[in-house]
Amino acid sequence: MVINRTCPVCMKGSIHLFAEARLDESRLDRFAYASRKNPEYMHHRLLLCDDCDLIYASPVPDHSELASAYEVAAFDSQRESEYAAETYATALSPIIRRLPDRTSALDIGAGDGAFCSKLLGLGFENVVGLEPSLAPIEAAAPHVRHCLRQEMFTPGLLPASHFSLVCCFQTIEHVLTPLELCKEALRILKPGGALCIVAHNRRAASCRILGRRSPIFDVEHLQLFSPASIVKLLSQAGLKSTETRTLWNTYPLSYWTRLFPFPHRIKGSLISALNASRIGNIPISLPAGNLVAWGTRGATD
Ligand SMILES: [Zn+2]
Repeated sequence: MVINRTCPVCMKGSIHLFAEARLDESRLDRFAYASRKNPEYMHHRLLLCDDCDLIYASPVPDHSELASAYEVAAFDSQRESEYAAETYATALSPIIRRLPDRTSALDIGAGDGAFCSKLLGLGFENVVGLEPSLAPIEAAAPHVRHCLRQEMFTPGLLPASHFSLVCCFQTIEHVLTPLELCKEALRILKPGGALCIVAHNRRAASCRILGRRSPIFDVEHLQLFSPASIVKLLSQAGLKSTETRTLWNTYPLSYWTRLFPFPHRIKGSLISALNASRIGNIPISLPAGNLVAWGTRGATD
């Protein structure tokens, strides 16, 4: 079943068509809902909200269809998830320093728990990672496995005013109701606690250059944010002191090659050659079109 959506940030807004759908059901496999996959250059019909600067998909599959797609999604990106976790830990260090304490942290869309492992290393006592797909949980390192729960982040799942930090990295694009997610994150945060989001920035230079060949235009992405729209999302949800920054991602050269829109045949042999020569393992930092944004629960809320 498919559903039609209004703007998932402001719930109204004046909208116009950004792009018609580009979908080929026969090319969707179990990697379509996996993280850090090869881009397929397919997307749903996209609308632009002039009030929020948000691009969002409508119509889209309903919640149960999405939930079952993620449940069985494949996972083959353990090396990249470790690199990403290191990037996020660095980006969040100024925010983590200002938290009221390090008793509890939540990672929504935790994958194989690579960032949960960083949180444990940073001294958080109680770390929870929610992950809808089974494959990454099964690939998790033994020391972090106990933190992971195969569940979607749904209202009422976790106790109120409990967490000092809630993270949501490369996940906000994938949820049907991002505003509901942020409101629920606010409810479970302690006063002074922070919600941190990492998302694609559709206004970044890399996206402007690649246009719709950018990997951010993807069947998994139900909305695409800019600095303005992510700040609007956080403040609509009731979070205070919102900020956003450019994120510099560090990944091995072979992974950057996988993301770049080379023709299919060239890309395959290029990645094999890079992996075989070890040059593919060289870590490279780029402002790859991601942003980090955060907001806090007011100390007196
Ligand atoms: Zn809007």
